[in-house]
Amino acid sequence: MEITELARQVIAGNRRALARAITLVESVRSDHREQATALMEEIGRSGRQALRLGLSGTPGVGKSTFIESFGMMLIREGLKVAVLAVDPSSSRSGGSILGDKTRMEYLSREKNAFIRPSPSRSELGGVARRTREAVALCEAAGYDLILIETVGVGQSETVVAEMSDVFLLLLAPAGGDELQGVKRGIMEMADIILVNKADGDLKAAAQRTRADYAGALRLLRKRPQDPEGFPKAMTVSALEEKGLATAWQEMQALVAWRRENGFFDRRRAEQAEYWFGQEIRYGLLGQLEREPYKSLIGTLAAKVAAGESTPGNAAAEVLRALRQDAG
Ligand code: GDP
Repeated sequence: MEITELARQVIAGNRRALARAITLVESVRSDHREQATALMEEIGRSGRQALRLGLSGTPGVGKSTFIESFGMMLIREGLKVAVLAVDPSSSRSGGSILGDKTRMEYLSREKNAFIRPSPSRSELGGVARRTREAVALCEAAGYDLILIETVGVGQSETVVAEMSDVFLLLLAPAGGDELQGVKRGIMEMADIILVNKADGDLKAAAQRTRADYAGALRLLRKRPQDPEGFPKAMTVSALEEKGLATAWQEMQALVAWRRENGFFDRRRAEQAEYWFGQEIRYGLLGQLEREPYKSLIGTLAAKVAAGESTPGNAAAEVLRALRQDAG
């Protein structure tokens, strides 16, 4: 199919075309890459904008249950919902543990929902670009809300936070009074912390955990993009569908405030700049992994290890080779 026609069908809301388009942007073949670039130019003209929600949480915290309940609530409100995943583990396990349709049984059957698991790809750079392009494709296809999910490990949170308008951190109730070893950097990214499983025997623990995190959030430096009271910690029960409507109201209030005060658009502009820089970095790194640089680096690494060259001098030699080839 011609790229112009594929773009037209994506914009017309054809789900099969959307799935095909995402398959195209996931491909690493160089001719596909060219087509994907052309496709992204075409769909960029749709001018549509969705709300991008990032969601992070460790396995077992209830992400799929949350997406199922929260997604169904939004569908009932008449919204179109897309779910994408950034799954750093998929390359190792060979299969994706996130965004799996079977994890969201009801949502996956809705015609106004689109769920796409993470592709298995080794480097985070490839997954990041694919997800960014998939987000843009879903926006062009008319989805109102895009949930981008990740597990709470490594750099995948940064990837998701840098492509989201609102970043949600899902946590489980902690036993006793210990905070759950959530890294400070991740807390600083969160706009709303949702302590899940606030039901039954876990309710009291969830409320204590929420209070602990609310206290911890107050100690963080105030960010200009936050209205009074944000970032905030709330309790929800994804299983019993409690607190979800309130959480959604808070997200909308946050977004409305950021839009009114220019932070929404500014953030998207900053994100575009960030990804521009990342693309250059990924591109350069990719180049270094190919010949003739790969062999050169191998040879030099052995010299550095043997004490025959310093890390600085050896690196300078590689950079000189890159410059010469470019010039
Ligand atoms: P994920 O790995 O983060 O996607 O977590 P899942 O959604 O698969 O949930 C892990 C387990 O926690 C499952 O057994 C769920 O039924 C359970 N769970 C999820 N949300 C809740 C909740 O709100 N309350 C309770 N009690 N259990 C929940």
